[in-house]
Amino acid sequence: MLSPADSLAPDWLVVPDDANSLAQAVWPAAADRDAGGALVLGGMPVAELVRQYGTPLLVLDEDEVRERARAFHDAFARATAEHGTSSRVYYAGKAFLSTAVARWVTEEGLNVDVCTCGELEVALAAGVDPARIGFHGNNKSVSEIERAVSVGIGTIIVDSAVEIERVAVAAARIGTVQRVLVRVNSGVHAETHDFLATAHEDQKFGMPFGDAEIAVARIRELPALEFVGLHCHIGSQIFGVAGFRESASRVLELHEKLLAGGEIPLLNLGGGFGIAYTSVDDPTPIGQLAAEIVGAVAAGCAERGIPLPILAFEPGRAIVGTAGVTVYEVGTTKAVTLDSGASRLYVSVDGGMSDNARPALYGAQFSARIASRTSDVPSALVRVVGKHCESGDIVVDHEYLPGDVAPGDLLAVPATGAYCMSLASNYNHVPRPAVVAVTRGSSRVIVRGESLDDLLARDTGISITEGA
Ligand code: PLP
Repeated sequence: MLSPADSLAPDWLVVPDDANSLAQAVWPAAADRDAGGALVLGGMPVAELVRQYGTPLLVLDEDEVRERARAFHDAFARATAEHGTSSRVYYAGKAFLSTAVARWVTEEGLNVDVCTCGELEVALAAGVDPARIGFHGNNKSVSEIERAVSVGIGTIIVDSAVEIERVAVAAARIGTVQRVLVRVNSGVHAETHDFLATAHEDQKFGMPFGDAEIAVARIRELPALEFVGLHCHIGSQIFGVAGFRESASRVLELHEKLLAGGEIPLLNLGGGFGIAYTSVDDPTPIGQLAAEIVGAVAAGCAERGIPLPILAFEPGRAIVGTAGVTVYEVGTTKAVTLDSGASRLYVSVDGGMSDNARPALYGAQFSARIASRTSDVPSALVRVVGKHCESGDIVVDHEYLPGDVAPGDLLAVPATGAYCMSLASNYNHVPRPAVVAVTRGSSRVIVRGESLDDLLARDTGISITEGA
């Protein structure tokens, strides 16, 4: 094992006492090892899942998704009831959406937030009541707007003056009154990676307060639209409540001003609740988050002498993130030693940035464990990399694994349920993996994996012959 002085490990990464252990906050609650040391997810031995479905494979723990959906629903219901109002929690489908997931979260009391017609169609195919769907996006097309309005979507969150006119035309043509929220940019920079923070002033989402005031006035003029409230989302992977509190306080100022023009039943404070990706991440418990955020909004309303609206939230990552574990097979290992003498072991797996773009996109950190066995061999500093033609094709930047990690081992990367499969690509003509749901000892495919034929069939110069 390397001494810390030689190590290429970052300061935050500690050498684990046991490089086989499963850090509680990072893995699904039901993740465990069997008597032989092999990983078990949702009661299913991972080796059995791999035998049935192959690798790479995203394993999603249904009970974990349901439990977290219920926890968010109940925490915000309790916190808002304490202050005499109610809550709506929307699952942000962009984190990962399939018909199964849409069913699970709605059965646990959540609504669904979509941001394209594709996501909308998945939610509708799952049987989600359109009235329980919110439609986001800074550039919804006219046909997307028409589809949403015609199915009776609950709310459209408008993001520009242009869009207001488009929604009004669609609603008037269809003969309905569409409920809309106006997305504002509160100017709060949440403590997160720059690319994830969406409430800077110089970015594409939301309207500055002055423009939002004009937008709301216009909506109130249009008989086909009903203004129901303001929306603000300050970013993602946020720990603590300071950013939410500050943003809410700024948005309340505008909310109060707009009350002069009529009632405003709702205030949507977006999502962004952080999760643990590595053992050093320490997310705020859901109950505490809900109590403190709702308490701050209630106090702000009381100070201003205005009624507390219904409060809406849009967690995505916090619902599915830790429910997902990606399982790969190790293909090659290679020790790289620098001139300084420091070294690390490169562990190449059979997926990579095509199924998990987050390290390349955001510098995101993940963790990993050998899934097929445990080992007492002293741990080595590793970097888990994919099979793509990019040196930035990193799956887990820094981790300690047993030093005998070897080709043929199964490797599991936890906390990959959110923004991994939903951001997946076919870079290098690599098919996207299947998603398998596990619960209490059973498994089923909820999104089938792509075959190479699926990919080749898109090239008009290739003819695929049946059975070839
Ligand atoms: N709401 C909006 C408007 C978003 O843009 C996002 C993420 O980008 C979310 C909710 C969900 O964020 P998270 O998954 O971090 O909770």
